[in-house]
Amino acid sequence: MPPIYIKNVNIINPFDEEPLDERHVVIKDGKIVSLHTDESAIYGSHVVIDGEDNYLLPGFIDSHAHVMANGFHKEDTMKNPLALHFYNAVKNMKDTIDAGVTTVRDCGLADIGVKMAQEKKIFPAPKLNISVKPLAITGGHFDFFLNSGFDMELNYPGFPVGTCDGVEGVLKKTREVIRACPDFIKIMASGGILSPYTSPEVSQFNPKELKTIVDEAKNNRLKVVAHCHSLEGIEKCAKAGIKSIEHGTFIDKKTSQLLAKKRIYLTPTLIVHHTLIEEGFPSWDKFADDKTKKLKEVVKIQKENIATAYEEGVKFLMGSDCGVIDHGRNLGELKYLVDVGLSPLEAIQAGTIEGARFFNQENQIGSIEEGKNADMIIVRKNPIDDIGSLGDKDNVLTVIQDGEILKDKPIF
Ligand SMILES: [Zn+2]
Repeated sequence: MPPIYIKNVNIINPFDEEPLDERHVVIKDGKIVSLHTDESAIYGSHVVIDGEDNYLLPGFIDSHAHVMANGFHKEDTMKNPLALHFYNAVKNMKDTIDAGVTTVRDCGLADIGVKMAQEKKIFPAPKLNISVKPLAITGGHFDFFLNSGFDMELNYPGFPVGTCDGVEGVLKKTREVIRACPDFIKIMASGGILSPYTSPEVSQFNPKELKTIVDEAKNNRLKVVAHCHSLEGIEKCAKAGIKSIEHGTFIDKKTSQLLAKKRIYLTPTLIVHHTLIEEGFPSWDKFADDKTKKLKEVVKIQKENIATAYEEGVKFLMGSDCGVIDHGRNLGELKYLVDVGLSPLEAIQAGTIEGARFFNQENQIGSIEEGKNADMIIVRKNPIDDIGSLGDKDNVLTVIQDGEILKDKPIF
């Protein structure tokens, strides 16, 4: 790979209050080699990108997406041949890259084969930290058995069934998922919006089951991440040692304080609910009415509750839940994070360095620093002045991952 020289950009790092103006960046062997204030470093470089006084940011990390999902419609599971899910994912991942996301914490469905395909750079895709298959209780969110008698559960080699109950059952299932090579364990600790027969207010998995999953994951040096809307569920998860709460809709002040004290992340995925309400579900979706009803209840209270969590000092991760909504909308979440109280820079931190810290990858990704992987994006507008601009794909001019230009090439 030829070295790249990016001239004349303003660098926005997640920990700098002010941009580093008019810098010149040298990339070699996939790494950021040096950041210069003068242009002389251009000598010897082969590929030159003129940054045109635009803004250079680290590639974003979406901590909650599903690259293998396209709406989670049960009807799709009935009609799609298995291979189609994977070919769809190729496009999903290109859309994710084009949006400025170079790493994804995949909260369910991407398996080790998808991760390997990215590592082999077979097609443009975000780097993946995968959970493979979320654990769910019988009758809970992500148990795909319908009262019609049809089971919509997808199951193939390397992709285990996720339902499990009881201490022995969850231990065995955690081990089965670990055998499938995850980077973290994902569980469904409350009912959900997209699943029939469950209520987001009801917690799922009892404390003994939660503790068993967390202990087994810990033994394998893996963190556990929980989908959880329910207040009671969030508290149970926090006490059991879960490291990241997804959605967190019904969180209150007391539980927020518990999360802050235990340094548990919250990934509120605000954009997904807003988008689903605005755009609705396709008319052929037989579960559309039920989903819309639950959604309206959730959105009513979520903003206020998540704002409370922010005020109480909970650390946030940026997650879009793309896969439920169209891929490529990932950075639209930043605007909603600012709506609940984060500063634009804090929202950028949630979407970059904090996402890296969750996996102890902060020495490799999450900021523009010498020695780190060259995962970066160039955008036209200053996101500190207009955080919503990051949600506009056309504003993302260039995407580079490991020193490879994956989007638009203003090359000379
Ligand atoms: Zn999700």
